[in-house]
Amino acid sequence: MKDRYLDFVNSPFGTSIARSLGLPRPEALRRHRADRAEFGGIAAIGAGPSPARFDDLMAVLSAIGMTSVAHESASGWLPVAARHGAMSGRFEPRARDSLASDRVEALIFDATGIAQSSQLHALYAFFHDALRSLAKNGRIVVLARPGATSTSMAGVAAATAQHALEGMVRSLGKEARNGITSNLLRVADDASFESALRFFLSPRSAYVSGQVVTIDAPSADPQSWTKPLAGQRALVTGAARGIGAAIAATLAEHGAIVTGLDVDAARDALDQTMLSIEDASPSGGAHAALVADIATPEAPAEIAAALVASGGIDIVVHNAGITRDKTIARMTDEMWDSVIDINLLAQERIDEVLLGQNVLRDDGRIVAISSIGGIAGNRGQTNYATSKAGVIGRVRALAPLLRERGVTINAVAPGFIETQMTARMPFGVREAGRRLNSMGQGGLPVDVAETVAWLASPGSAGITGNVVRVCGQSLIGA
Ligand code: NAP
Repeated sequence: MKDRYLDFVNSPFGTSIARSLGLPRPEALRRHRADRAEFGGIAAIGAGPSPARFDDLMAVLSAIGMTSVAHESASGWLPVAARHGAMSGRFEPRARDSLASDRVEALIFDATGIAQSSQLHALYAFFHDALRSLAKNGRIVVLARPGATSTSMAGVAAATAQHALEGMVRSLGKEARNGITSNLLRVADDASFESALRFFLSPRSAYVSGQVVTIDAPSADPQSWTKPLAGQRALVTGAARGIGAAIAATLAEHGAIVTGLDVDAARDALDQTMLSIEDASPSGGAHAALVADIATPEAPAEIAAALVASGGIDIVVHNAGITRDKTIARMTDEMWDSVIDINLLAQERIDEVLLGQNVLRDDGRIVAISSIGGIAGNRGQTNYATSKAGVIGRVRALAPLLRERGVTINAVAPGFIETQMTARMPFGVREAGRRLNSMGQGGLPVDVAETVAWLASPGSAGITGNVVRVCGQSLIGA
């Protein structure tokens, strides 16, 4: 469904009306476009004491063609840049009333060396000087360490300071506005963050802000960063329309061969979706439509048989989901059971067969679609929120068991996304859902799809058991 207010206030006429009436003007988010460079411009670098990841950060910035300037907090950056043969200069804070177009595209802070809370002042110093210099649709990324069990008082102090970073990063996202995102990457010493940094610096993460992602194992680079899923096979449930159709199209665009699954009643829509994917990302007819109702007991075996016949599977996206809303006193048995069954139990049944029979190959990826309703709860959605919270619990519990096989499992929790599901909401609820987030607008199915594609990539092998919200930093459940 179109967001007419967003379009209006970003039109030449609407901009002046909004200005004169003092109306809020959500930024038109810059999303990925094939005809536009994904990266570019300047990143300003800041750091706390003893930053551990300058070399890796410099390597990624060089690889994606971004130049850098160093804030005074990052005095060690210039020698690292010189060692990499990269151009770099000093960051000059932008004057409050400066008219010059001297904005930077990203602010990146290496907080990995922060070991006590007094050292958090370095974040204040950097963002106090630099936030005003960040361009519209700019990116804030803070690099940190994963949480660890503390065995000493020094460990407790370090864990305290590292956790404090979450408050900083989330608040920056809420202050920055203008389509700017702010995210925290907790990276283990032996883990690579290239896949995550590329995602969070790119327009592909336009609606992902206020998130904390833990990367706690090494990963290999994909053969190609432009087609990271080349040679992989993916299953997407609920692919006929909405978010599922966007996931299927995006995985195909990233190089995967996709099987889209939906119910018999959606057969025509599913065929149309898969045909349009074939046109946009030709596979020589290998993209396939699979009709199955995941609520039926025979579905897992049918799905497994179809996937084995087409050569196994590397990526499973549990997207199909339903709502049957009523307050609990008015909710029927059938409304409760069908939502729990399709949104949660079906995922368990399908994974049991795909994992148990090794249909999902080693180093595979499972991405389960949850919802911010599963984090915050929603009036009239006890069944839905229970099922979506269950998805999160399952992802967290299953991740360690799958590590041995190199399989990762993560949840993506969308906020308000413009689909048929949200178009059916009453006007007031819909407008509240759309506006009550840092971006002041709803997300698009492609925002969820890009997040799924990033988690499904070979470069994301170190990311498992995470929940990533695609909610524009929703104020509900944030
Ligand atoms: P949607 O437009 O209703 O699409 C869901 C698809 O799943 C439909 O094609 C549906 O088919 C299919 N499906 C339902 N039951 C199925 C079954 N038993 N077997 C196979 N396919 C089945 O929903 P959406 O908005 O794209 O949402 C996709 C996912 O994101 C869901 O898990 C939803 O809970 C989650 N989500 C959405 C939002 C949002 O704002 N839209 C927010 C948070 C989370 P039929 O309807 O034709 O039966």
